[in-house]
Amino acid sequence: MTRINRNYLKLPGSYLFSTIGKKVREYEAAHPEKKVIRLGIGDVTQPIAPEIIKALHQAVDEMADEETFRGYAPDLGYEFLRNVIAEKDFKARGCEISAEEIFISDGAKCDCGNIQEIFGMENSIAVQDPVYPVYVDSNVMAGRTGSFDAGRQQYKDVIYMPCTVCNDFAPELPGEVPDLIYLCFPNNPTGAVMKKDRLQEWVDYANEHGSVILYDAAYEAYIHEADVPHSIYECEGARTCAIEFRSFSKTAGFTGLRLGFTVIPRSLVLDGVSVHDLWARRHGTKYNGAPYIIQRAGEAVYSVEGRKQIEKQIGYYMENAGIISEGLKEAGYSVSGGVNAPYIWLKTPDQMTSWEFFDFLLENANVVGTPGSGFGPHGEHYFRLTAFGNRESTIEAIDRIRKL
Ligand code: PLP
Repeated sequence: MTRINRNYLKLPGSYLFSTIGKKVREYEAAHPEKKVIRLGIGDVTQPIAPEIIKALHQAVDEMADEETFRGYAPDLGYEFLRNVIAEKDFKARGCEISAEEIFISDGAKCDCGNIQEIFGMENSIAVQDPVYPVYVDSNVMAGRTGSFDAGRQQYKDVIYMPCTVCNDFAPELPGEVPDLIYLCFPNNPTGAVMKKDRLQEWVDYANEHGSVILYDAAYEAYIHEADVPHSIYECEGARTCAIEFRSFSKTAGFTGLRLGFTVIPRSLVLDGVSVHDLWARRHGTKYNGAPYIIQRAGEAVYSVEGRKQIEKQIGYYMENAGIISEGLKEAGYSVSGGVNAPYIWLKTPDQMTSWEFFDFLLENANVVGTPGSGFGPHGEHYFRLTAFGNRESTIEAIDRIRKL
């Protein structure tokens, strides 16, 4: 008899965003006269910048001509894109990363989820708590996490690293040494960042213990403060212990176009084996390259005009973040994030649980956010709002919350 992968059954029943969606649909059906504002799911709302649209059109036209038509893209990405990324994202910041260490993909979610495949099943994993769910769930599916303890809301074999107000939502070095350490900065959901000196401690720790840091920098473009590293490779020694994930989704509104990349330095060697070569093999076997048209659009993100336009877009979202943070603070909420990240992390009032606050906001302000407990036990009594709405609805949502 054919068997299923029973590890999937260890995943708790309802996915956070489907539960939110269901609650909101039910509320809207019962109250059709209410205008519900969604500041929950982290999708962007602003259209693609004109310079990127121009590049897309040009690439589409190339596809219509036999001379310039392109078929399968190189597995690891076109050189025009890998070169410009190496130059602008890394060399310009003093990071020693070459184009051939960059793997183009259709987004960071797949890469963050798939990377665990190239590591042995016996490796222990550590994640921030609260955390972007993909890191844990992909390891659950692979069978690396043990069973789910419903009481503690944790998997038995995962090392959870609490991120609380006491450590500025950036974890302490764990006592029990993990093999694979997932770090995400700027962080989803807390909006926190890790300053360079603290990140350097993590790099030193990983090198000392032979651990690998899987560093998710999907929100790098939102960093505004000078002492916050944009890449883990700004830290000394990261080339021997770190893999970095990047995304064009929030940087340039590519959530629907799909483009991202992963960096694996040549000097990351485990058991005498190059991790770069393993990922190249995996990519070549299971992935057939991001579309040419989209890679050309990605290249336009790095053009002078393209950069100006996306900076304006990021500025727009960050102004929303400011409106949310300031409005909530004036209303007496305790708020963090929203400075180097498009996420605002607020403490629920009056000891409400995250889901109680979700219902309270939906019913009384008709505003939808994301319950912090959906990101892990230390997210309980917290709530995430995103700055990705349009200006008008962001202002209205905060107005409604202030009037509560
Ligand atoms: N990493 C983090 C921390 C995210 O929040 C997201 C998207 O929400 C992703 C990765 C996924 O990015 P992509 O759209 O490139 O798959």
